[in-house]
Amino acid sequence: MSKSDRAAQHTWIEALQQPGCALCRLAERSSQRYIATLLDEAVMDVAHRDTWRAARGLCPWHATVALQTPQSASSVALLYADVLRHDLMQLAVLTVPVPSRWGWRSRRTLRQRLQAWLRTWSQAPPCPVCVLWQAQEGRYVQALLDAWPEPTLVHALTVSTGLCWAHTCHLVEHGQQHPHLQAVLAVQQAHLQRLRGELAAFIRKQDYRFAREAYGPEADAWRRVVALYGAPVGVPR
Ligand SMILES: [Zn+2]
Ligand SMILES: [Zn+2]
Repeated sequence: MSKSDRAAQHTWIEALQQPGCALCRLAERSSQRYIATLLDEAVMDVAHRDTWRAARGLCPWHATVALQTPQSASSVALLYADVLRHDLMQLAVLTVPVPSRWGWRSRRTLRQRLQAWLRTWSQAPPCPVCVLWQAQEGRYVQALLDAWPEPTLVHALTVSTGLCWAHTCHLVEHGQQHPHLQAVLAVQQAHLQRLRGELAAFIRKQDYRFAREAYGPEADAWRRVVALYGAPVGVPR
């Protein structure tokens, strides 16, 4: 096993020991790291600034992470001032008065300009941090599938709370051709079956006849099922 495979496996085991989806946890941790580095580099690096400008800054989730990053205010202000300056220039094109004597032609050219402007928003490249994380996520998924059925990893996934649906989809997407995909999915299936049972036990205890019974692991099943379907806000889907 290579050094990087060992490191990826260790990262997986560590993330699986925390509550919730391990890939959501890794996405949070990696994004915080990427943003801290990007905020430092992007201010100085022209190529980075071009990327930010084209993407219109960060996606809502990563923008929130950037705002929470210590000492980020000055870098965030500089980067977004650049993005705003560029976007204001583009907006200015739309407000240039068109001579009324042009009649229908002026209406057509204005409509074309409006549509071209809308396209710059709808076809903007993705958030640069999302791009970095998606590449990293692919490497993590590959490492999990390649290492399977390494006993410590199997154990860690089995005793964890499993992956959310969004990351189960990413696992299937990345691992379609992988010989270990089905075995990993079977563990995920067992997690979902257990959650289904806990949810049923929770619902049963909502009935006044059983309301006096103490809660077991099903106490937070209703929260876990929501997390399963709705990964934390912004986790790339
Ligand atoms: Zn997840
Ligand atoms: Zn993002």
